[in-house]
Amino acid sequence: MCIFCKIVNKEIPSNVILENKEFLAFHDINPKAPVHILVIPKLHIDSFNEVTGQTMKNMTGFIHDVTKELKIEKSGYRVITNVGEDGAQEVKHLHFHIVGGAKLAWSHLSDADPKGKF
Ligand code: AMP
Repeated sequence: MCIFCKIVNKEIPSNVILENKEFLAFHDINPKAPVHILVIPKLHIDSFNEVTGQTMKNMTGFIHDVTKELKIEKSGYRVITNVGEDGAQEVKHLHFHIVGGAKLAWSHLSDADPKGKF
């Protein structure tokens, strides 16, 4: 069982901020911004590659609720999902990082030449 499934099953503790039947939102253990929340589906999905449009539709509403709960919906935030090896996805259970609480940097994402491929 993956680490986020264990969090869903309460086998591993987490700091939950919002939850419904389908989704769970909890604090990232290694925050990269003043607000850093992870939103996951309770049913295991490996990554964004496997998610259905219906689940994304429901998750969008849940993410909106999370940003309101955190009171960052007006100040702004970033939603990130890392996919696969090049996406640097460490945990193979679909999750969206919700980061904010301060002006975020938009700096370099890779050491590769950004003009290299296209
Ligand atoms: P990613 O690189 O997109 O797969 O991100 C995985 C994220 O999960 C990282 O930001 C980790 O800090 C976070 N993480 C790993 N284990 C836990 C945990 N037990 N509780 C909360 N966050 C975690």
